[in-house]
Amino acid sequence: MAYTVLARRYRPQNFDEVIGQDAVVRTLRNAISADRVAHAYLFTGTRGVGKTTLARLLAKALNCEKGPTPDPCGKCDSCRRTQDGDDLDVIEIDGASNTGVDDVRSLRANAIYAPSRSRFKIYIIDEVHMLSNSAFNALLKTLEEPPAHVKFIFATTDPQKVPATIHSRCQRFDFRSVPTLIIADHLAHVCKMEKIKADSDALHVIAREGRGSVRDALTILDQAITVTGGEVRLASVLEALGLAGAERYFLVLDALQARDAAKALAMFDAALNDGVEVGEFLDHLLDHFRSLLLVKLAGLEAPGLDATAEERARFQKQSAAFAGDQLTLALELVGEARYRLRGLPGARPLAELALIQLASLPDFVAIGEALKRLGPVAAGSPSAAADEKKKPDALVSSAAPPHAVETAGETEIVDPGPEDVAVYPSPLGEVAPLGAGEGLRPKTAPTLTNASVPAPLEKPMTSAEQDELRRDPKVQKILKLFDGRIVDMRRRQPS
Ligand SMILES: [Zn+2]
Repeated sequence: MAYTVLARRYRPQNFDEVIGQDAVVRTLRNAISADRVAHAYLFTGTRGVGKTTLARLLAKALNCEKGPTPDPCGKCDSCRRTQDGDDLDVIEIDGASNTGVDDVRSLRANAIYAPSRSRFKIYIIDEVHMLSNSAFNALLKTLEEPPAHVKFIFATTDPQKVPATIHSRCQRFDFRSVPTLIIADHLAHVCKMEKIKADSDALHVIAREGRGSVRDALTILDQAITVTGGEVRLASVLEALGLAGAERYFLVLDALQARDAAKALAMFDAALNDGVEVGEFLDHLLDHFRSLLLVKLAGLEAPGLDATAEERARFQKQSAAFAGDQLTLALELVGEARYRLRGLPGARPLAELALIQLASLPDFVAIGEALKRLGPVAAGSPSAAADEKKKPDALVSSAAPPHAVETAGETEIVDPGPEDVAVYPSPLGEVAPLGAGEGLRPKTAPTLTNASVPAPLEKPMTSAEQDELRRDPKVQKILKLFDGRIVDMRRRQPS
C-alpha cells in the first residue's frame, strides 16, 4: 500500500481533533447547534493552521446524514466522500489556478441548481485573494443574494487583498499560528500512534521549525523519521535536517560577548554562504537576544520563551555574561537594523554594522554601584554619602556610544593634570566629569539627559607623557571604578 504522509493521515476528522484553534471551533460548533450557520465565511491565517481542514469539517457537519450536527458521524456516504474530497456537493476551488471571471461565472451558473443529494451545496474557495477583480465582482452578485442551499467558505493567507465588499458579506475567522508547545504535544501523540521513539527536545525543535503550522511540522517529522531511520533524536534531527540554526547563534553570541567583532563577522559570512538570508540572520539574532533577556528577567520558566530544556539552560548561562541593560540595547540595535533592512534584501552592511556595534556594547554601571566600588574615597565625605541616597540610580557607561563606533573608544583621559581627569559617559546616562581632586564624587546628580559634549581635544601626547599619566594613582582608580581602558590621551585645547 502506498505511504500516506502524516499530515494527511492525521488530518482531523472531527472538531475535537482540531489543534490550536479553540475559539474558531467553539463558535462554529455553537453556530451549527443553534442552526445559525452563516451563508459565507472567510477563514484567514498563515499556511497549515487548519483553514481548509475546518472548511471541510464544517461541510461535513452541515451535510452529514445525521446532521446538521457539530458531531458528524464520519461513517455515512456524505461524510466519507467529503472527507476524501470527492463529494459532488462540496466543491473545492483553488483560487490560485481559477482566477478568471469565467471560472466564477460557471460557479454562479452552477450554484443555482439544488445540491444533487445533500442538504447544501458548499463552495470552498482556497487562496481566494488570488481571484481577479472581475472574478470578485461576479462572485459578489452571488454573495448578495445567495440561494438558500448554498454556503461559501473562503480561505486566504492574505486577507488584505480580499476586497472590502467581500469581507462585509462574510463572517470572518482569524486562525492563529499554533503555539510550538501545542504542536510539540501533537507530534508526540502522532509518534505514539505510529510507535516511533522520539525525545521531547527533538520534537520541540521540529515543532518550532513548523513556525505555527501543524502541517509543516508534520511534514518535517515525516522527513526526520525517514532520515533518522525511525528514531527521532535531537542530535540526528539537527544533523539530518540541517537545523543547526540555534547552535550558530549561540556561537555568534559567544563571539559578541568576547567583543570579537571579527569572529562575529566571519560567522555571519559563513551563515550567508550556507544560504541564510540577511533578514533571517537578524531575525534569529533578535530571537536569541530576546530569549537571553527573558531568561535574565524571568528565569528558566520565563513565559513566552520558545526553547528546549537544554537551550533554556544555555540561555541562562549565556545571559549571565550580559547586563540587562546591554541586552535591552542589543535588542534595540538588532531591531533597528532589521527595520531598516525592509525592502533592501541585499543590504548586508546593515547587519555587519549591527554586529560591530554589538561587539562593543557599553558596560553599564549603576551610579550607586560605582560609588560603592569606590568605597572609602566616597565615604570620606559624609554629605556625598547622604546625597547618594537621594539620587536616582542612573547609568554610567565607560565605553563609546554604540552608534559612534568610529570615534575613539572607551575611557578618555584628558590632559596630564590629574585635576582634569574626566570620564565621558555614553549618551544614555550623564554623569558630570569626576573631579579627581574632590574625592571622585559626581559634582551634580546624574540625570538621564544627553551627555554634554566633551571639550575639543587636540595635540596627541608624547608616549612618555602618556606613560606618566597611566601610572598616576588617580587615573588608575578611575579606570578601576569604571572598568575602563585608555584608548586615547590628548592635551585639552586651552579655552
Ligand atoms: Zn455522516
